[in-house]
Amino acid sequence: MATHEPVAAHHAANAEGISQRTRLYDGRKATHRLHVLIVGCGMGGLAAAHCLGQAGHKVTLFESAAAIGEVGAGIQVTPNVSRLLRRWGVGDNLEAVAVRPEAIVLRRYETGERVAYTRWSDMEDQYGSPYYHIHRADLHKLLFDLAAPFMTLRLKSTVVSVDPEAPSVTLASGEVVHGDLIVGADGVKSMIQRVVLGHTNPAEPTGDAVYRAIIPTEYLLNDPELKPAAYHGL
Ligand SMILES: Cc1cc2nc3c(=O)[nH]c(=O)nc-3n(C[C@H](O)[C@H](O)[C@H](O)COP(=O)(O)OP(=O)(O)OC[C@H]3O[C@@H](n4cnc5c(N)ncnc54)[C@H](O)[C@@H]3O)c2cc1C
Repeated sequence: MATHEPVAAHHAANAEGISQRTRLYDGRKATHRLHVLIVGCGMGGLAAAHCLGQAGHKVTLFESAAAIGEVGAGIQVTPNVSRLLRRWGVGDNLEAVAVRPEAIVLRRYETGERVAYTRWSDMEDQYGSPYYHIHRADLHKLLFDLAAPFMTLRLKSTVVSVDPEAPSVTLASGEVVHGDLIVGADGVKSMIQRVVLGHTNPAEPTGDAVYRAIIPTEYLLNDPELKPAAYHGL
């Protein structure tokens, strides 16, 4: 794949026909077709690309990384998100790669004492859509497959500045790309947020750290100490 040349993203995706099944807004298209420049191929950028593309807009998405994907472990897909994914036609795909957790158990770090237990299996009854746990890479792929037919993806394309008036984005290569609208989906250290706010807005360190890991159930079942966790949660 050429590095900073545009690629038709649907050639890169194994789209499995997902977006062909999906039709948003009762098939209505925007009366004015805009060229939307999206910065960032994370979940936010992909969701925006899908919805804007479904509305008939032309989407170009810029991503710093040389390859698409998502790192990390699991992510919680709450009912507000699963409701959207169902509406977007990927409810079955989601169900196939995600799990519906039964409950959450909270324990005191020092002693292991159980301090809270919340049943989660009734989420669908309460909120109208299920609650899932999923691997980040699987969720990213679902969103990528949804967005792929609607966008031109430019990998290795770091946006170094934006001109909201033009509007345009400037890439690290020096190339300036003009559009009608710029969407900043460039993550927690967003450069575009800086342009919008006029100042940096760094996250405040809390001193806390979070570790997240996924352990295959068969490992739990083969370990006498962890075996109960496979059935009742840690
Ligand atoms: C430990 C942890 C656990 C979490 N758990 C959950 C959870 O269970 N459920 C949940 O809903 N959320 C969870 N979140 C939050 C969730 O992960 C984020 O809200 C989400 O990933 C943000 O997606 P995004 O697309 O906005 O940004 P990102 O995923 O950060 O994507 C930004 C993309 O922009 C690209 N980029 C950045 N700058 C530029 C640039 N200048 N030019 C071009 N490309 C650029 C980056 O390479 C990246 O691909 C968790 C977060 C953390 C840290």
